[in-house]
Amino acid sequence: METIKCLIAGSGPAGYTAAIYAARANLQPVLYEGVLRGGQLTTTTEIENFPGYPDGVDGNLLMEDLRRQAERFGTDLRAGIITETRLDRSPFWIKLDDGTEILTKTLIIATGATARYLGLESEQKFIGMGVSACATCDGFFYRGKDVAIVGGGDTACEEAMYLSGLCRKVYMIVRRNVFRASKVMQQRVLSTPNIEVLWEHQTREVLGDETGVTGVLLVHSSGRERIVDIHGFFLAIGHHPNSEPFRPWVEVNPEGYIITNPKSSETNIQGVFAAGDVQDPKYRQAITAAGSGCMAAIDAERYLSMCSGL
Ligand code: NDP
Repeated sequence: METIKCLIAGSGPAGYTAAIYAARANLQPVLYEGVLRGGQLTTTTEIENFPGYPDGVDGNLLMEDLRRQAERFGTDLRAGIITETRLDRSPFWIKLDDGTEILTKTLIIATGATARYLGLESEQKFIGMGVSACATCDGFFYRGKDVAIVGGGDTACEEAMYLSGLCRKVYMIVRRNVFRASKVMQQRVLSTPNIEVLWEHQTREVLGDETGVTGVLLVHSSGRERIVDIHGFFLAIGHHPNSEPFRPWVEVNPEGYIITNPKSSETNIQGVFAAGDVQDPKYRQAITAAGSGCMAAIDAERYLSMCSGL
């Protein structure tokens, strides 16, 4: 069985940045690209808040550039999804979806998180054309327009506040008659004049044409239907961290996010590090993911040099 120094799981900004640093530190990293090569950014169009791109950058292009940069320093990029692990002893045992088994002295988990969607056909049809699961990423495109955001948690409230500073009107579509969000966030939302909360409403269909989203068909708990005209439809109904194959070993919080030591990428297992959205329920930005990928590679390099010095 192949034994390597450093295995990186995931190909978002965290994974590729970890690879750039690990390759330059001569860890000869192998990176498995996972379910969606390039990660969540490949599902958005223009990215305007990644530093270094004053005119914005296409999500696919940014990820392709990061990939090439990782490759340039010798990262071994491989297609494959990790399905099973044994992390109770080093080197760690990893199994891929095609049955390949591999041993690694260090593991960097950068498998990201997947935004939850409602699961409507019309919603999927307009992803990138008015439907978005990231207001911080895409809100800017709806400046001066009317938008809606689904969810009643802290993320929905925070993103509704963000959108209210850009958009003419923000409808919050909340399925119950209460928020799940903290009191302080609720108060902020309720005292913002251009946010209107539509309590006890669920989304039946996202409406649109070839230009993108034009409205949303809602249904109230009483059964009454209503169409709201909007151009942007945002989801903030939670994320799902992709930590399953590592969970039997790595400590996670109740939502499944991997717990890392403060100001570090270290997990509860020595030699196993986590970076990006799989360990970050709070910031979830490409640039913070990239930063934590850098931290993980530096931590892995220090761990390996410490082991060889023993
Ligand atoms: P949450 O799980 O807290 O909230 C999800 C919201 O989406 C709930 O209001 C839920 O409704 C609603 N929802 C879920 N599924 C559907 C659906 N199918 N249709 C309509 N509505 C739906 O997720 P968040 O992302 O808001 O927060 C995750 C964690 O991160 C929380 O612990 C939160 O406190 C934390 N957080 C903290 C922040 C901060 O401290 N600044 C900022 C952002 C998040 P219902 O209530 O009816 O279940």
